Amino acid sequence: MPAESLSLNRRHAVYAGSFDPLSLGHLDVIRRGVSLFDRITVAIGINPAKSPLFSHQERLSIIREVVAPLPRVEVACFEGLAVNFLRSIGAGVMLRGLRTLTDIESEFTMTLANHALDPDIETVFLMASEGYSHISSSLIKQVALLGQEGQEESLAKFVPPAVILALRNKLRVRPSMPASPA
Ligand code: ADP
Repeated sequence: MPAESLSLNRRHAVYAGSFDPLSLGHLDVIRRGVSLFDRITVAIGINPAKSPLFSHQERLSIIREVVAPLPRVEVACFEGLAVNFLRSIGAGVMLRGLRTLTDIESEFTMTLANHALDPDIETVFLMASEGYSHISSSLIKQVALLGQEGQEESLAKFVPPAVILALRNKLRVRPSMPASPA
């Protein structure tokens, strides 16, 4: 066992993800995590291979605003492997959410890989609450991009108010997509 593993805190969980954007499902996992752990770090992964709708700085400020009323929750960005980020801040638990059987398959593979990379880090899963299991960031982006003007109320079923505002601002300034050839 590496000497530095002694400093990992099993009461400090990291909830890592893309959060592009943060959904009510993500927020539900964060809230429930607060009741289980002493400290939660929401960690936004910066992946240079992806082109997110919101920059990591934008996601950082949106999530900070949304979680501000919650105690013992902080928000950070990280590059590289999540397990390395956990170790760098001394957190001993990786918190993940599970929605569907498809999630289980990919999360299982990721957990095994993370365990091989750092066996001292434990992964804890929270099953999505019933009302949130169908929500994904890609669904939210589809509704926001393809929905008609004035349809923002339907987004309120998926995201917190700060995210509706951010989506509205983002899509207003987005250049329109070129029409596809007939
Ligand atoms: P990633 O790119 O890591 O999948 P996401 O932002 O999509 O990032 O998800 C981060 C974590 O939150 C993952 O564990 C995912 O399964 C979980 N998650 C996503 N949506 C929901 C939801 N509606 N309810 C519960 N957990 C969710």
